[in-house]
Amino acid sequence: MRDSGVAMVGETASNRRAPNGVAAPPPQEGAAEQADKEVMCVPRLRPSPNAEHVPERYDEVEQLEYPAAMYSIMEQYLPSNLLKAPREKKIEILERICAKYRPNGDRTRRHRVYRERIRLTYKPLHEELSALNPEQFFVQSFRNAIDDGSAEAFRKIMKYQSSGLFAFDMFEPRFCSLIMDEVEHFENWAQEAKFKVMRPNTMNNYGAVLDDIGMEEMLDQLMREYITPMSSVLFPNVGGASLDSHHGFVVEYSMDRDLELGFHVDDSEVTLNVCLGKDFGGGQLFFRGVRCEMHVNGEARSDEVLDYSHVPGRAILHAGRHRHGAKEITSGQRTNLILWCRSSEFRELTKYQRDFSSWCGECLTWKKERRRKLSNVKPQPASAV
Ligand SMILES: [Zn+2]
Repeated sequence: MRDSGVAMVGETASNRRAPNGVAAPPPQEGAAEQADKEVMCVPRLRPSPNAEHVPERYDEVEQLEYPAAMYSIMEQYLPSNLLKAPREKKIEILERICAKYRPNGDRTRRHRVYRERIRLTYKPLHEELSALNPEQFFVQSFRNAIDDGSAEAFRKIMKYQSSGLFAFDMFEPRFCSLIMDEVEHFENWAQEAKFKVMRPNTMNNYGAVLDDIGMEEMLDQLMREYITPMSSVLFPNVGGASLDSHHGFVVEYSMDRDLELGFHVDDSEVTLNVCLGKDFGGGQLFFRGVRCEMHVNGEARSDEVLDYSHVPGRAILHAGRHRHGAKEITSGQRTNLILWCRSSEFRELTKYQRDFSSWCGECLTWKKERRRKLSNVKPQPASAV
């Protein structure tokens, strides 16, 4: 899958940003670097096989990416705590490890085949989701603000606003239901057809990529016509005015699915995260300040420690490099639509930069410190000879 990276915060910072993926607080990802990021979230294999362990057989598993025998052999190299893990889990881990060694061209090809198979065999439940219909999708207050386009109009619709976080009502309840129904329909179809679903990123075990099930054009239009006007004003320093590609997906949390999401940064310049529903307890997002890749593991200042509680239909917009995670859900089910918006121009321009003080909290601190030191160096009076 082209866009599956998330950079975990707390991992090595040696992974470079890539133009395409999700990452956990270290940063973001792209095609070449994507595979590396994916591997960041998986355990290391043992240097030698566990000879006493009798590996499972994988012959009858459908849609394996590699020959079944390879899984049995590699299983003996898994850390001991994973030897008794469910077979599906072992397959997932082993495939992630192997992804590191697969050429990007192969990944792209695989994804193209995957999408084509869905296009030819999956019949969407709600065809209407393939075309953007502002009146049906968005609440009036949001449409009015976009039509106006001014900073003042955006300020007026904010329900929550704090250092780089902006939350506002966006989706009509019916649209939220349509998306959730469609994803459930897709999951049921995949289960019946024994079709292996590619998950949205390396950190979510449930959910679906909306771009894969017929919504790519609709979401692209949503980004260009409804997010860019806002992000141009709210996120001018991180490429918010030049968004040109996206990765759109749905994530699902419940007691029997994913419970939480670890601390990470997205593979995006700007992320739109909209809660679709339904009833749930817990699951707040926690934010810990915006950081460049070099500073992704640094401490957060007290004023950067922010929690945000989801409200169905309400969107939160933040920089992709705003470090965050999701707390454990305590009841019910929470489904969110996430749109990672990317700017190739911004990525190209920042490739060789070292100072990101216009948006990285720590770069800014260092810059201020340097200025302070310089201003403390008093010029020496010229002495008479
Ligand atoms: Zn920095």
